[in-house]
Amino acid sequence: MSLLCLNSPAEAREWCAGERRAGRSLGFVATMGAMHRAHVALVEQAARENDSVVVSVFVNPLQFNDPRDLENYPRDWEGDCQQVEQAGGSLLFTGTLATFFPAEFDAEGGLKPGYLLDPGVGAMGLEGEFRPGHFAGVATIVDRLFQTTMPSRAYFGLKDYQQCLVVQDLARARGNPEVVLCPIVREQDGLALSSRNQRLTPAWREAAPAISQALLALREQWRAGERRVNKLESTLAASLSVSPLEVEYAAVRDPEQWSAGPLKGSLEQAVALVAARAGDVRLIDNLLLDSAGGGSS
Ligand code: AMP
Repeated sequence: MSLLCLNSPAEAREWCAGERRAGRSLGFVATMGAMHRAHVALVEQAARENDSVVVSVFVNPLQFNDPRDLENYPRDWEGDCQQVEQAGGSLLFTGTLATFFPAEFDAEGGLKPGYLLDPGVGAMGLEGEFRPGHFAGVATIVDRLFQTTMPSRAYFGLKDYQQCLVVQDLARARGNPEVVLCPIVREQDGLALSSRNQRLTPAWREAAPAISQALLALREQWRAGERRVNKLESTLAASLSVSPLEVEYAAVRDPEQWSAGPLKGSLEQAVALVAARAGDVRLIDNLLLDSAGGGSS
């Protein structure tokens, strides 16, 4: 089946409503485009588990706390269309802030004050701290995308760990859709795929796998029995300190009990999370330290 491409959220809403009326289950993948293998994996999984797959591409200004990052964010609509079609997508759509939020858009080109949603507990600390306002922007657009597509299932990648928490909370509060969390897709040397990676210089590209290597080394400590939060965090920080990357945070949290700062004492389950800058490119990654934890591979 060939891919339908629309640049109108209103038309996308109509198309999705038609699918639901026809009794077809709908899988949804939200992206900012410049797609790579990880996006393709989400679309393929959605295609295996649903009758139709709808994919959005929107570089959402509401979630960029850094205007240079928004300006430099890669865009590739033609490439996105090809990849989504090959992966089994049915509809690819995009829009603008004005067309996603026709009633809430203001004359200054933003949203009326007070419209941004509260992203909840998952937004506390780490990404929430280093990117003020980011998760309110994420929650607001994801909510609008869910209203537009009303999917049966929505697929998100565990690479954006706190985003998964925020989206799960949102879906739980709305009562739908089912949120499916998908494993991190990596390069052979361990670097987590990201649209931003194409902006790495060769030297920074060479340095970047230090993040996943540090996370894997930490998992060895966990497997050897280390459970103390302060020890785990200091090991992670120490292994990253030898790399040329500029670390923003290197943290360990309980995935079942999200907290802004580290919990005291020991953990029974843990996720390690890192954000670091390679030149002007910001990289994030994480790893569930329990091998039985699944998901984040
Ligand atoms: P983005 O276009 O960066 O907003 O990402 C769209 C979706 O793809 C989000 O659910 C991301 O978490 C997911 N994603 C991006 N990179 C990866 C990756 N390397 N592994 C797994 N999921 C990813």
